[in-house]
Amino acid sequence: MSATTPYYKIRDFINGEWIENNTLETAPLYNPSTGAVLGEVPLGNEESSRAATAAAAQAYPAWRDTPLPKRMDYIFAMHSAMVERKESLAQAIAIDQAKHIAEARGEVQRVIEIIQMACTIPALIQGETVPSIANNISGRIIKAPMGVFCGVAPFNFPALVFGWFIPFAIGVGNTFVYKPSTESPLFMQGIMELLTSIGLPQGVVNIVHGDREVVEAWYDDENVAGVCLVGSTPTAKAIAQGCGRNGKKTMLLGGAKNFLAVMDDAPMDLLIENVLMSGYGSAGQRCLAVSNIACVPEIHDEFVTRLLAASENVTVGDAMDPDVFMGPVISKAAKERIEKYIQIGLDEGATLLLDGRNPTVSAGNQDGYYVGPTIFTDVTPCMQIAKEEIFGPVLSIMKVGCIDGALRMIKNHPMGNGACIFTQNAYNIEKFINEADVGMVGVNVGICAPHPYMPFGGIKDSLVGNNKVQGKEGINFFTQNKVATVRVVDPKEGQVAAPASTNSDVRSCVAS
Ligand code: NAD
Repeated sequence: MSATTPYYKIRDFINGEWIENNTLETAPLYNPSTGAVLGEVPLGNEESSRAATAAAAQAYPAWRDTPLPKRMDYIFAMHSAMVERKESLAQAIAIDQAKHIAEARGEVQRVIEIIQMACTIPALIQGETVPSIANNISGRIIKAPMGVFCGVAPFNFPALVFGWFIPFAIGVGNTFVYKPSTESPLFMQGIMELLTSIGLPQGVVNIVHGDREVVEAWYDDENVAGVCLVGSTPTAKAIAQGCGRNGKKTMLLGGAKNFLAVMDDAPMDLLIENVLMSGYGSAGQRCLAVSNIACVPEIHDEFVTRLLAASENVTVGDAMDPDVFMGPVISKAAKERIEKYIQIGLDEGATLLLDGRNPTVSAGNQDGYYVGPTIFTDVTPCMQIAKEEIFGPVLSIMKVGCIDGALRMIKNHPMGNGACIFTQNAYNIEKFINEADVGMVGVNVGICAPHPYMPFGGIKDSLVGNNKVQGKEGINFFTQNKVATVRVVDPKEGQVAAPASTNSDVRSCVAS
């Protein structure tokens, strides 16, 4: 490493302080664009995990009792500070996750929009009152905070997942402990500096780094009210099990295998442009990246020819180079896993039309973790490459007779995150929206990511449980419906017995 390259010593942030804990083991932090070591990440344990939740628990009562307009001041300040620091935060994502700098800027912009949504909390947190459920008695639903929430992030969206969890959780009055991925922790270091700069009270947001040991410590931690995750399906299921044993609330978004259906009237230029963005953007490491393409025969050959030509022109290289289209994948292990799937596809009998293994990159990047655009044709739904999440820039093209064939494939797949269709036929559009067995549907878009004002999440194995992020659902998850049954007594009359009819009303209303 050159003398000018900073060495990033990632630290936990607990109770308003950066923690220097030299007793913890560390993992190296790599630059995926070059393979060089960038720094080190502490591997937290039960002790560091519990220190963070204890700090959050201590901060909770005062934060919960902070008047809502004051709490919202912090959310507005967070929004303004993010707008000011947009570029440095995007750089942080581009450095360790090696998301292409243009996409990193897009991710930060999306988080700014999510925080706008969090600014609607005062409108959405309002409870309900049912007056006169009996004489002088009303029923009230109060959307109350719950205490300490903990969040676990995947490597591929370090900023977005922060946005999905923290502004909503703390805006409604909870405190938070966040565990970034060990592969992309830099963004949250920048966010903690930002939260400190706006004067967020200590302990309201805490960061603890590490892997599963940190999370597993929360399952029996009495300070923890709930855990949320964005990650792979096996991780979501493991957390559901762990949290289930003590009844902790969970919001667990899992893995994906997204289909794109191409009909005979697909607008071809738009389709190609969107498949490139969706399939190769972030090097295919998006939960809404297209992976399986179901194409009707009338347009199959033209589509494949056009897609191949466009894919051959995709430039691969350093995530910081604005002139390349696609950066590296996250790690050496990820590169090897994707290359293994390419070999599996060949062994299964699919046609490898474009082989992304060992793409040409610039001098200085040869040790980076690159896989270029890869296209298989003649794929069938029962092949491993069509069934399993590859999480890389690999497209599997299958032939289907009509829309029903595409819908059947989507229904039969155990994952159900997103699915898109390219067509101009109104009947097919409505049919696809109604029948595609996924949580998020796109029409003539390659990435069907809902706007922050709407809920985001899949179904089937892509979501464990049924809580989704963003929108009203995102706010509801971080609150509990507390119900109050309230009788008022006229102080002038004191405990005067109510008329007989009222007593029976009260009996029936409290009976259950
Ligand atoms: P991962 O599941 O390996 O790790 C996610 C997080 O969970 C990390 O912070 C990790 O430290 C932690 N973790 C790993 N194993 C654990 C365990 N057994 N118990 C508790 N915590 C554990 O996922 P990843 O490789 O970081 O991210 C890619 C995955 O995330 C893909 O499957 C992708 O589809 C998914 N993802 C889903 C969405 C969505 O919206 N559904 C969005 C982004 C990413």
